[in-house]
Amino acid sequence: MKNPPDPNCIFCKIVAGQIPAKFIYQDDELVVFPDIHPAAPVHLLMVPREHFAHLGDAHARHEALLGRMLFLAPRLAREQGASDGFRVVVNNGPDGGQEIYHLHIHVLGGPRPWKRL
Ligand code: AMP
Ligand code: ZN
Repeated sequence: MKNPPDPNCIFCKIVAGQIPAKFIYQDDELVVFPDIHPAAPVHLLMVPREHFAHLGDAHARHEALLGRMLFLAPRLAREQGASDGFRVVVNNGPDGGQEIYHLHIHVLGGPRPWKRL
């Protein structure tokens, strides 16, 4: 059974269309949109539609989705203009610098210099 949306979660609200975001990719399991405070010329957030806080809260049912997200990252990075490499980042928990507790993968690319993340 899927986790319910968290009514206090910004990314659940984006998934539900209650907070605007420009989806550059979406399917039945995930959405992808630009980070509102980009730390690089290309800065995407890949967000599962189902709420779970971070990798430590993933279930076995998320295994294929997490793999699919990583597999999709290079295609979306390239399509968005990161032609010469990119970085993927997943912040987990307080010491991981996580601000929004709905699992997401940052995809950063484009010409350097970038801000620190
Ligand atoms: P993290 O520290 O990994 O939890 O990163 C959360 C990211 O979400 C930050 O880079 C924020 O800039 C980004 N963010 C917060 N609110 C929004 C929003 N409404 N739309 C797009 N990105 C957002
Ligand atoms: Zn959420």
